[in-house]
Amino acid sequence: MNYPRSAYLHIPFCHRRCFYCDFPVVPLGDRAGTENGPGSSSVKSYLNLLHREISLAPKVASLSTVYIGGGTPSILSADQVANLLDHLRLHFGFQNGAEISFEVDPASFDTFSLEGFLDAGVNRLSLGAQSFDDKVLAQLGRRHTANDLLDACGWINQAFNERKLFSWSLDLIQNLPGQDLCSWEKQLLKALDISPPHMSIYDLSIEKGTVFEWRQNRGELSLPNEDDASDMSKMTSDKLKQAGFSRYEISNYALPGHASRHNRVYWSGSGWWGFGQGATSCPWGVRSSRPRTREKYKKWLEVQENDGLDKSLTLNNEGQLIPLDELLIFGLRRREGIDFKELVSSFNWDESQLEINLNNLKNYWANSLKEGLIKQRGYRFYLTDPHGMDLSNQILVDMLLWYESLLNSSIDQPNL
Ligand code: SF4
Repeated sequence: MNYPRSAYLHIPFCHRRCFYCDFPVVPLGDRAGTENGPGSSSVKSYLNLLHREISLAPKVASLSTVYIGGGTPSILSADQVANLLDHLRLHFGFQNGAEISFEVDPASFDTFSLEGFLDAGVNRLSLGAQSFDDKVLAQLGRRHTANDLLDACGWINQAFNERKLFSWSLDLIQNLPGQDLCSWEKQLLKALDISPPHMSIYDLSIEKGTVFEWRQNRGELSLPNEDDASDMSKMTSDKLKQAGFSRYEISNYALPGHASRHNRVYWSGSGWWGFGQGATSCPWGVRSSRPRTREKYKKWLEVQENDGLDKSLTLNNEGQLIPLDELLIFGLRRREGIDFKELVSSFNWDESQLEINLNNLKNYWANSLKEGLIKQRGYRFYLTDPHGMDLSNQILVDMLLWYESLLNSSIDQPNL
């Protein structure tokens, strides 16, 4: 039995809502962030709900990774972070050397609060840099400036060099409106100059209900065309590789020893706890998402407290299998890809069923295999870097079509 050994805590507060973001967050205003400042009572009452939810989880195994994400968790005070981590530690226990990650945004913390977060037990930071260009930051609706970002990088690097931090990540967005190869190269070079041991590079995606969607519908966003976007992705992969980074997942690059252990839990199909408004958990193979608004989350929590935990959160589901399509989607994002035979080993397929299903999948992937976007070694399949990783959407869509045909097929497919 694999017990969940990871926990995600969602902090749904930001100073403002960025123009591209559809996360379940509450903007508290630019001056929020002190224990008694604007929005502080909202933060306190939310933390109370979060602590109550943690208390309900079955205490089954100590945690090896914790990720406090958001939102902007660095809006919290160091004491609030320490209380959350203490509660988790007392409830589940932490394994020796547990990775405790914490998301921070430039201009939402200073050296004093950083010290406090580290004293609270945080040992890995993820910095939402997004861009070093003031014009781009304004276009994204970010609150911080390039100078704020450079200050934040300096403080974090100092803590890292003094070994107060195990690792940290600098996060950027590529394929932004108006971005071209030359401006993106400057961003990458600036980032490399700072020498973070980990970088996450996300492609901009236009989400429903955001300012960016509205601008796009009015024809006001000049996004890079497909060829330029592909050239930028290739440049990212090449430059980071030259600098010694390994692309261990589609959007994530790490120097040796700095891959995020927490993220690998999601991609490997292991279970995890998720706590907080809008958070998803999957401790025993069944995903459950909490409501995205405060009121509904509060009501959901009260139902758990009064009527008993949702079935997906109790041990009753032990042995339940994560659906094959999810295992494939997350597995294929990793550099090592998936071992098809190993992945389906718990599905009770006999040899001939296995071969039939695999050959069908390869038919769906025929073009991608032919074009070298996906490679096969025995039963292992992995996306090539950069081409396969950059065109992963088509490969995943083909895989989902195969999965749908599998569900509809007349062959008995246990456990799908
Ligand atoms: S800081 Fe992050 S979570 Fe908050 S609105 Fe901006 S992108 Fe979204």
